[in-house]
Amino acid sequence: MMEVSEAVAAVLHEAALFEPQAIPLMDALGLVLAEDVHADADSPPFDKSLVDGFAVRLADCTAPLPVIETVSAGQMPTRSLDRSAAIQIMTGAPLPVGAEAVVPVEHTSQRIGADGMPLVSVPIHVTSWKPGTNILRRGASTKLGDLVVAAGSELRPQELGAIAECGRSRVIVRRRPRIAVLATGDELVPVGQTPAAGQIRNSNEMMLCAQIRRAGGEPVPLGIARDERAHLRERIEVGLHTDVLVLSGGVSMGEKDLVPSELASAGVRQIFHKVNVKPGKPLWFGVLDRTPTERVLVFGLPGNPVSSLVCFELFVRPSLRRLMGVSPAEPLAVSARLTQPHTTKGDRPTYQPARLEWQSDGPIVTAVPWVGSSDLRATVAANSMALFPVGDQTYAAGSTIKVIAW
Ligand code: AMP
Ligand code: MG
Repeated sequence: MMEVSEAVAAVLHEAALFEPQAIPLMDALGLVLAEDVHADADSPPFDKSLVDGFAVRLADCTAPLPVIETVSAGQMPTRSLDRSAAIQIMTGAPLPVGAEAVVPVEHTSQRIGADGMPLVSVPIHVTSWKPGTNILRRGASTKLGDLVVAAGSELRPQELGAIAECGRSRVIVRRRPRIAVLATGDELVPVGQTPAAGQIRNSNEMMLCAQIRRAGGEPVPLGIARDERAHLRERIEVGLHTDVLVLSGGVSMGEKDLVPSELASAGVRQIFHKVNVKPGKPLWFGVLDRTPTERVLVFGLPGNPVSSLVCFELFVRPSLRRLMGVSPAEPLAVSARLTQPHTTKGDRPTYQPARLEWQSDGPIVTAVPWVGSSDLRATVAANSMALFPVGDQTYAAGSTIKVIAW
């Protein structure tokens, strides 16, 4: 039986980076850029005012100045400051030729002069300002040709904005994987249906599709497969037309656990079955090379909801990150201090639902009570899993343990 780290490594070994392709920038949130994006112009593209106020020459500011023009953002000035005068200017508007500084409107007073022309008075100390006050010079943030976002960057809202500023509406990225979700089990009914005696709702489909979305993938829900060979096989064949097929249930030792054998008959090559982990021991993983360039990764998650949840975070999510080129692909653990003593009785390393919180002196973690791998409700109070190594042991409050946030 594989250890968790060996199983993660085996999954990542089989998951090859997607080839880069162009997609609309609007769809690229969370993906990894596969090209360098350079500035197609200076930013700002012209000297611009940082405030609403009056553009002036500093030496002119000893007397009231006639206001000869008003420039709003989006307009170009038609006048220049080649004599003693002021031009009213709004934030973001291009600076008139000759202007040395912009005096914020709140520091000025305005009146109409004897000739009916507006006049503005500015405080005398403005004459000692440094030229350039309240002005952002052309190219101050970015020069034409500068590298703005480098290949390999994960696209967050600010990268998307910066790329949009470069005039790009499409970008080359490693695309979002499509992941089919197939729940198996004769006891399952769709969520909208009231379970009859002995039946339960297919909650895993909802949960797994949400986990896929959160990890950056595109879920393809395939509904419920009966624990019956022909039906299961037909649904598996449909699922094998995506990048990743995630099944839940049917991977244990029961008579109706048909998933491993049906995957094998569909040509999926087993990489491992069973991992030394709690919950999630029966996890199955394999691959199908549909064409020389198209590989499908296949995960058979144990059906118990917390097992499915934990196995997705430990094994499926890293595979999606690898396909998309997100680094690191592996789950990231932080060290946190236990707030309460915790006793483990484990023949396997246990990933216990837990509550991770951030305090000024570092992260703290509290185990959430749960009654085992079917207790999905316990995970609602949790935001992470705390890792307790194998063995019977009591961890004192204040002990440092590893925690993986969900
Ligand atoms: P299995 O892995 O098929 O042996 O299922 C283990 C347990 O998980 C059983 O109690 C199932 O009823 C439950 N289970 C299996 N599939 C689902 C599902 N899609 N949603 C909720 N519970 C499930
Ligand atoms: Mg089952």
